[in-house]
Amino acid sequence: MMDKATRLKVALQKSGRLTDNSLDLMVRCGLKYSRGKDQLMCYGENMPLDLLFVRDDDIPDLVQQDVCDLGIVGLNVIEEKRLAFQAKGVQPLFDQLMTLDYGKCRLSIAVPDGVEYKDARSLHGKRIATTYPNILARYLRQRDVQAEIVTLSGAVEIAPRLGRADFICDLVSTGSTLLANHLWEAETILESQAAIITTPVPVSAEKQDWIHRLTMRIDGVQQVKESKYIMLHAPRSKLADIRKLLPGSESPTIVPLDGNGDKVAVHAVCRENVFWETLESLKGAGASAILVLPVEKMLA
Ligand code: ATP
Ligand code: ZN
Repeated sequence: MMDKATRLKVALQKSGRLTDNSLDLMVRCGLKYSRGKDQLMCYGENMPLDLLFVRDDDIPDLVQQDVCDLGIVGLNVIEEKRLAFQAKGVQPLFDQLMTLDYGKCRLSIAVPDGVEYKDARSLHGKRIATTYPNILARYLRQRDVQAEIVTLSGAVEIAPRLGRADFICDLVSTGSTLLANHLWEAETILESQAAIITTPVPVSAEKQDWIHRLTMRIDGVQQVKESKYIMLHAPRSKLADIRKLLPGSESPTIVPLDGNGDKVAVHAVCRENVFWETLESLKGAGASAILVLPVEKMLA
């Protein structure tokens, strides 16, 4: 089962914010798997692909060392590792294959309530706590700001209250953690989302083929999420108006209706969400018998 030459090994986060979405993505791409006893691996039953569960911070290293062919991890971790390798004089070898539509967050400078912050110069001579010292150092360097970076491995948000730092630089998505810790978001220094990285080491033709198939399937999965299939009837004379109302659709299929010379059926894939308001506008423009169906799979 574990043939290194033919089976793809994909590193996913073991337990955390990216885990459910990453596993769900693999399943939507068609993967059926069985779990290993140790819960560290899942073995693909219908695809030559196995999943390895690890801490997200280890994923770039596993791909760098060619232990895994692919890994799913946040751009924040990818960028931090890339800079850390460069700082050590090691060339980062992992390539970014594609970004994914989840794990969205931003790395931001946050400031304790009541403390003033105007721009990066406000950080001059201050202590900033973070788990992303390399990204922060680059940001400060680019702005010619001298500040002390306090590198922590977690619980960054309580550093100001403990007197360990004046500011923090941490990941934010909704901002509720900042709020709960009496901090406000002053500046974003990196936008992040999940991404797939791949080894630059040449792989066998079989593996390459599966990497290609997997990326095509992921593309399809990401596209159908928002897509809907719309079917409706319309008088020919109203077609131009109705086409304008179909959200994000390419050329629709127009079929004559049997025994009804004036009316046609319009079928279209809409790549955006279809709201009730859109249906009401379509009806207002002369459409009838409007059906909206989910799209399950799509291959461009
Ligand atoms: P691990 O035990 O694997 O090291 P972790 O504590 O480093 O886990 P999580 O908190 O699960 O990691 O976050 C994993 C990734 O999810 C982050 O690196 C980031 O890319 C993304 N993410 C999305 N929203 C947030 C958020 N609000 N806070 C932190 N990370 C977020
Ligand atoms: Zn981590």
